[in-house]
Amino acid sequence: MTNNLPRVPLSQWVNDLPQAQQDRLLEQIKMVQSWVNDFAQVLGKKRAPKARITNRVLYYAPWSNVVAVPAKMLLEADGRLLRIAVAHECGHFNRRWISLFSRSDFSRLREEIQADRVAMALTGASLDDLDAVVRELADYEEYWSSEALDSYIEQRRSLLQLAETEAR
Ligand SMILES: [Zn+2]
Repeated sequence: MTNNLPRVPLSQWVNDLPQAQQDRLLEQIKMVQSWVNDFAQVLGKKRAPKARITNRVLYYAPWSNVVAVPAKMLLEADGRLLRIAVAHECGHFNRRWISLFSRSDFSRLREEIQADRVAMALTGASLDDLDAVVRELADYEEYWSSEALDSYIEQRRSLLQLAETEAR
């Protein structure tokens, strides 16, 4: 898998792709949109986020209510992990305004745990699946060192386990 996203505007980069890949991107984002619609319905939310292609990282944007998925991820990621990652972003959507005001490291991490729990509920993902998603995403986000990634995954996993135990 290639790690470096091209530093050109998305439209230009997409236009440079062979037609078959452009078609596949459109198919993939349509599929993501249908997942997002289903997830929003299960969460009991009326206005499902719009799915968009980005050349940057995967994110949920509360103001515009957009779930943006990196083009490379749409083309290359394992379908099951992609679906779990999208469910996680819908977890942020589920707490749209709360997540917007989570600024400190601690509250941001707590938001991540909440979003992971929603992803588990929506997709049946296991803790191992969620680790795999974080590792897959790190491939699209250049700033992770492998030590930082390992310790982040470990911290997040232990908090998630704690939250799951308390919920039982
Ligand atoms: Zn998140």
